Amino acid sequence: MQDIQSRLYKIEERIEKAAKRAGRNISEIKLLPISKYHSLEKMKVILDGGINEFGESRVQELTDKYDEFDSEVRWHMIGHLQRNKVKYLARRHRCTLIHSVDSLRLAKEINKRSKQEDRVMNILIQVNTAEDDNKFGIYSKEAIELIKKISKLEYVKIKGLMTIAPYSDDPEEVRPYFRKLKELALKVEAIGIENVEMDELSMGMTNDLEVAIEEGATILRVGSGIFGEREYK
Ligand SMILES: *Cc1c(COP(=O)(O)O)cnc(C)c1O
Repeated sequence: MQDIQSRLYKIEERIEKAAKRAGRNISEIKLLPISKYHSLEKMKVILDGGINEFGESRVQELTDKYDEFDSEVRWHMIGHLQRNKVKYLARRHRCTLIHSVDSLRLAKEINKRSKQEDRVMNILIQVNTAEDDNKFGIYSKEAIELIKKISKLEYVKIKGLMTIAPYSDDPEEVRPYFRKLKELALKVEAIGIENVEMDELSMGMTNDLEVAIEEGATILRVGSGIFGEREYK
């Protein structure tokens, strides 16, 4: 478990250096450990390190783990979300932010289930910046129309945007996708849509977090860089 602690320190160091270089305030950049396929034991090391938020990509795993920790821990849903699973996230404030909303149908289901629980769900709009047909997310050119429609839902609050860049060994190659997300956020802000904030940009993972910071990321989703290789059972 000591390896996790030292990996966490290393990631935090990389973030600090990159933020300094980019002239950004470290307090506006959140490191979100992605704990999918990782044990509770490993997650407890992170909690002891002073971080109490985790990202999961599957509803079942998120809710199982939710039950194992106390209410201080906050959970982010980062993976593709099926409408029939939304109810499990809305209940008991299990989820603090859903990063992966890319359709009105899904947003409406989140709205319905959140209303039943008398809560507002914070969401990000997932943008398919690479315009890869095999990936989830709305295309940039369709995003503003979608955001306008979702903004009318009372129990859903748009807090920003999320993207998953295509995998590359060279972080420079993903810079255009991050830049595109930031540009879209600025465009949305300029239009000024009621009930919509563009405070959060969820982008950057283990491989490319420096580039993401330079391009304006506020949430870094880091899995293997903290926990090591995922343990698929
Ligand atoms: C798994 C996952 C991550 C973390 O990826 P690493 O390369 O392990 O840092 C980030 N974002 C999403 C959407 C993921 O599914």
